[in-house]
Amino acid sequence: MKKISILVPMYNEQEVLPALFDRLSALMDANTDYDWEVVMVNDGSSDNTASMALAMHERDARFHCVDLSRNYGKETAMLAGFDTVSGDCTVIMDADLQHPPEVIPKMVEKWEQGYDDVYGMRITRGKEPWLRKKLSLLYYNLLQRTTRVPVLKNVGDFRLLDRACINALRKLRETHRYTKGLYCYIGFRKAEVPFEQADREAGETKWNFVRLLGLAIEGITSYTTLPLRFATIVGGIVSVAAMLYLMFILFKTVLVGEPVAGFPTLMVSILFLGGVILLTLGVMGEYLARIFDESKRRPVYFIREIDGKRQTDGCVREIE
Ligand code: UDP
Ligand code: MG
Repeated sequence: MKKISILVPMYNEQEVLPALFDRLSALMDANTDYDWEVVMVNDGSSDNTASMALAMHERDARFHCVDLSRNYGKETAMLAGFDTVSGDCTVIMDADLQHPPEVIPKMVEKWEQGYDDVYGMRITRGKEPWLRKKLSLLYYNLLQRTTRVPVLKNVGDFRLLDRACINALRKLRETHRYTKGLYCYIGFRKAEVPFEQADREAGETKWNFVRLLGLAIEGITSYTTLPLRFATIVGGIVSVAAMLYLMFILFKTVLVGEPVAGFPTLMVSILFLGGVILLTLGVMGEYLARIFDESKRRPVYFIREIDGKRQTDGCVREIE
C-alpha cells in the first residue's frame, strides 16, 4: 500500500490543534486505500503546541511530532519535515486549516496520474487585509519579471510532492530558504488543483508586515541576481552623465569663465550620488550577508524531540 505523509509546520497553534486533529483524522479514516502519517513540526512554539502535539501522537499513532530546538521560521520547519517524512508522497499544509484537507484526495488523484508536484492554486485568499493582497500581487508580478525560473502567482505551500521532489528538496540545504522558489528550481511534472483558501480557524497570523518584507527580500536575493545588474546599470548611467557634465563645465569655464556660484547644483549632485552609492552598497551587502551565512555551512536546524523521545545528535533523518 502506498503511504501518504502530511506535513504541518506549526508555530503557536494551540487554538487550532483540536480542529486540525479532527479534520485530518476524518480524512485519513475516509481514505483507507492508503497508509497515512501526519508529521507535525513544532517550530519552537512558546505556547502549549508541543505538549498538545505529543498528546495527539499518544491518542493516534499516525500523528508524529518533531520538536525543533527553537523557532527557525516556516521555511526551515518545512525542511525538517522533508527530512522526516517517510511517505511515497507528502502533502504540505498550514496548521491553521486555511488549506482545507478535503482538497487532498484531489491532489492524490493527480499524483496517481503521474504528476510529481501538485500545487494548490488559490481562487480566493480568504480574509486578508486589502493592502496585503495588493502588495502580494505586485510582488509576484515583479518577481516573475526578474527571474529566469518562473515563480507561480497565487500558489502557496499547499501542495503534494512526490518522493523524488522531497529528495531533491532535501539536497538543497541553504540556510536562507525561499521554498516557493525551490519548488520551481527542482522542476518535475507539475499540475494544479484549484482550492478556496479558508479563513484562519483560530489564533492569529504569524506574518506581520516586517516578516513578510523579510521573506520578500529573501525571495529576490535568493532567487535572482538582477538587483546587482541593476546597480551596475544605474552606476554606469550616472557615471556617463557625470562625465558629460564635467566636460560641459570644463568647456564653459575655458570659454566664458566661471564666476563662483552653483551651490544648488553641487548639493544636488553630491546628495544624488551619495544616495546611489549607499543604495548600491546596501544591495551588495544583502548578497554578501547571504554568502557569509551560507559559507559557515551550519546545519540548518536542530531537533529536540521526536514523538517525545529526546534527540541528542541534533539532526535526525527518519522516523522509525
Ligand atoms: N509557521 C511556522 N513557523 C513560523 C511562522 C509560521 O512554522 O515561524 C507556520 C504556522 O504555524 C502555519 C504556517 O506556518 O502553519 C503559516 O503561518 P500563518 O498561518 O501564520 O501565515 P499566513 O497564513 O497568515 O500567511
Ligand atoms: Mg495562515
